[in-house]
Amino acid sequence: MLESARPPLHSTGNFCLCFCLYIGGIVSLFLLCVPVCRAQSLSAAEVLPLIQSRNYSQAYPSIKALAEASPKDMSLQYYLGLCALGLKNYPLAELAFCRVIVSRPADDPFVPSARKALASFRGTLNPYCTVQKKLTRRWSRSAMPLKIWVSEGLTLPAPYVGNILTAPQYKEATWILQSLQPLAVAPSYKAEYRQSVLKAFHSWDWAVRDGLISYVFVNNARDADIAVLFVEHPPEQAGGFTLYPYAPHQPCIVEIKCALERNWDEPSWIQQVEHIMAHEFGHALGLADSATTTDLMYPGDNNTVHPLNEVPNNTCSANDCASLRAVYSMPADANWNSVRQ
Ligand SMILES: [Zn+2]
Repeated sequence: MLESARPPLHSTGNFCLCFCLYIGGIVSLFLLCVPVCRAQSLSAAEVLPLIQSRNYSQAYPSIKALAEASPKDMSLQYYLGLCALGLKNYPLAELAFCRVIVSRPADDPFVPSARKALASFRGTLNPYCTVQKKLTRRWSRSAMPLKIWVSEGLTLPAPYVGNILTAPQYKEATWILQSLQPLAVAPSYKAEYRQSVLKAFHSWDWAVRDGLISYVFVNNARDADIAVLFVEHPPEQAGGFTLYPYAPHQPCIVEIKCALERNWDEPSWIQQVEHIMAHEFGHALGLADSATTTDLMYPGDNNTVHPLNEVPNNTCSANDCASLRAVYSMPADANWNSVRQ
């Protein structure tokens, strides 16, 4: 739902409430940041009243320095967003509010405030939370280019197929891949599925152009940061799923369904495989599922991604783009390195 276009800073009541709610956090930040920041800029406790009184120009250098010194502190990102909005620096305001929204659980009190502020100038933008199992995840800048291996229909042995692997199972699956153990081909695999998988990565080429990520394809599993395999029947009717590494030197594993469901024909499934892979690559980059049906990261009903025989849209939405930009503009809880680092 669209919010009023009225800038929130003209509605002091709302933000005064926010200031009151978060002043405890700011005070604790003050204790942390004073030693680092006092020499060159104001402390968080000194900046807060400036923002509150809309003295944005004076507050900006200090809140910017504080946010850069503690990039995972979302209270600072929120106030950086308010300050940028007051200065009509809309790209920075958008990025700061999106960082809050993607990196905090939906029930975090900062999230509705950030959403409300974002809606005041980017009414249709609806970035989504990327926290999964209490962690945000992304690839480190030093991991680029990501090494992606797309198998020719290979499937992991039965004990390792599934969307929940224990840490020991994941370690064993990694060994199977990295020691180049012979693997079976999924019975229903078609060479066209691999072509669809390879095409799917282009859905994210905007992120390459923007300098957020880069990737190359490699021809063996040993070097793969992201390993794409196939599976005859994934659990829970999923069209595909992505497994996250437990430890360094383990790849992200993506598995794509091969067997046709009832009423699916081969040409439709070939298209669908491209859509599934485009969606799973978003997961492999660290995004979670979106609740907005027009987003590439929307999982679809019953995880089938799209209704039967509907030509899927493989384009990243503005929400997908804003969410990924935010994730790749700050450190995450888990910052993956390349398997060879
Ligand atoms: Zn998903």
